[in-house]
Amino acid sequence: MAYVVRGIPKNKNFRAFAVKCGDVVEKVRKLQNLSPLASAALGRALAGVALLSADLKVGKITLQINGGGPLGEILAEGDYKGNLRGTLKNPQVYLEIKNKKLPVGEAVGKNGFISIVKDLGLKEFYQSSTKLISGEIAEDLAYYLTTSEQIPSAVSLGVLVDRDGSILTAGGFLVQKLPTAKQEEVLELEEKIQKIPPITSLLSEGFTPEEVLKMLFPDIEILEKRKLRYKCTCSIKRVENMLIALGKKELQEFLRKNENVEVICHFCRQKYIISLDKIRDLLNKLNN
Ligand code: ZN
Repeated sequence: MAYVVRGIPKNKNFRAFAVKCGDVVEKVRKLQNLSPLASAALGRALAGVALLSADLKVGKITLQINGGGPLGEILAEGDYKGNLRGTLKNPQVYLEIKNKKLPVGEAVGKNGFISIVKDLGLKEFYQSSTKLISGEIAEDLAYYLTTSEQIPSAVSLGVLVDRDGSILTAGGFLVQKLPTAKQEEVLELEEKIQKIPPITSLLSEGFTPEEVLKMLFPDIEILEKRKLRYKCTCSIKRVENMLIALGKKELQEFLRKNENVEVICHFCRQKYIISLDKIRDLLNKLNN
């Protein structure tokens, strides 16, 4: 089962989150026919957005990464209910494995930006971005949180892919320093983070997200455990709105071609077929 936990140590000087989401990454891999490298990159982004959205009470967070590498733009979304979805431009990228590791940084690229959009159901979105520093996603997210949101943060994200391309495990953790934290507490924590095994090793050995946080903060109190699932928010209504947004000219062009319009959702590969009658309806709406 995929889930994210959030907790706070007794001294209340840090916030900590951990996630296990191998099922979610396996589902998106199958839906989008992802290569191992694409699964690793999108899986890290999904684990990252699961951590970021773990304390949302409303709305959703979108993580967007565009590093100019062969995978192209990566999008991952998480909402307050634990629904995740994500996609990337080029799902079939293969690069040579180096030191037994999938070269995620090279595939994502680092000539670009990481952006976060928070949609908290208000009139305005909150959006901010920073330059990518490695393309490895966890480091980039930590850099973003520390510089753009000014909350010193440590992030670890990982996806373990089997030989056949299926996902063995995926997850991560996020630790944020609160203003009351003392310098020696920060140093002690940094040392612990450096010493613990990689997150994918811990999860594949059977450690739970709660246990991972306990390794960092033995007295942590878990405040919430939230189930996660891969769930798309597309619908025929949204597809129609998207077509309306294309404008009159585009819709008239569809009529001229005299073929039903096919729209495939990037996130779940659901196919929507819009009849010419429907296109005429939408055009009427635009004219009124
Ligand atoms: Zn969809």
